[in-house]
Amino acid sequence: MSLQSAFGRDNKAKTGARIAVARRPLVAGNWKMNGLSASIAELDHMLRGFDAALSGKLDLLICPPFTLIEEFSATAKGSKLMIGGQDCHLNASGPHTGDISAEMLADSGAQAVIVGHSERRVDHGESDALVRSKAEAAFRAGLIAIVCIGEAQADRQAGRTLEVVASQLKGSIPAAAKAEWLVIAYEPIWAIGTGKSSTAEGANEVCAYIRSVVAEQFSQDVADAVRIQYGGSVKPANIKEYMSQSDIDGALVGGASLEADSFLQLLEAGK
Ligand code: PEP
Repeated sequence: MSLQSAFGRDNKAKTGARIAVARRPLVAGNWKMNGLSASIAELDHMLRGFDAALSGKLDLLICPPFTLIEEFSATAKGSKLMIGGQDCHLNASGPHTGDISAEMLADSGAQAVIVGHSERRVDHGESDALVRSKAEAAFRAGLIAIVCIGEAQADRQAGRTLEVVASQLKGSIPAAAKAEWLVIAYEPIWAIGTGKSSTAEGANEVCAYIRSVVAEQFSQDVADAVRIQYGGSVKPANIKEYMSQSDIDGALVGGASLEADSFLQLLEAGK
């Protein structure tokens, strides 16, 4: 699937801040540190269900652990499913024990990579500047970069949500950002893996604000075209509310993407 598929003819019309723009929603499953070689059966099951679930309305991505990318990519070849990584190093190669470069992901068949997930920011102390370099590395390797931003519970309670996401956005998005290869995932940290999802209207307000910051920082054209996902306890029961919002263009899904049955239900509900 080409990067340009984000702007295909069957896109769902969305009304952004300025004009009606067609942005094709992207639903991405983040498997985190889950999955062994036996998980290929789960992927097979998903692939069998995708055509019915999708009907060409969504772009679809699964990000398994590094160890499964090559096999998943080979299995998904020729289907509508893209495979992606969950992180990459900023350099193409070199003395970085244990790290994986964006070029290595691309070489294994990946088409996208998540960068700056809150679990990387918290567990590995990743700064906005590092996340920006990783997004640049993704672009260099021809991958879509899904750049994650989102406030912690304490920020939200202190009324700092917009300030925090604006600052993360300014620090994490490369200056050369283009909507063809950039996806922004708004993921409030307090909603990830907790079952406490944001209201759809609340998430949409933040996503609309993110779009306005992108317009200021880059251009209105980039802001109108870039896809902004919501992530945080998205499930089959709530995805439709998110997907029907004006400024939410898909979802980044953790727990509910691990099993084919729940992921297929989620896609069916969200299309
Ligand atoms: C995530 O890992 O990005 C995420 C949103 O997880 P969950 O859907 O389980 O909250």
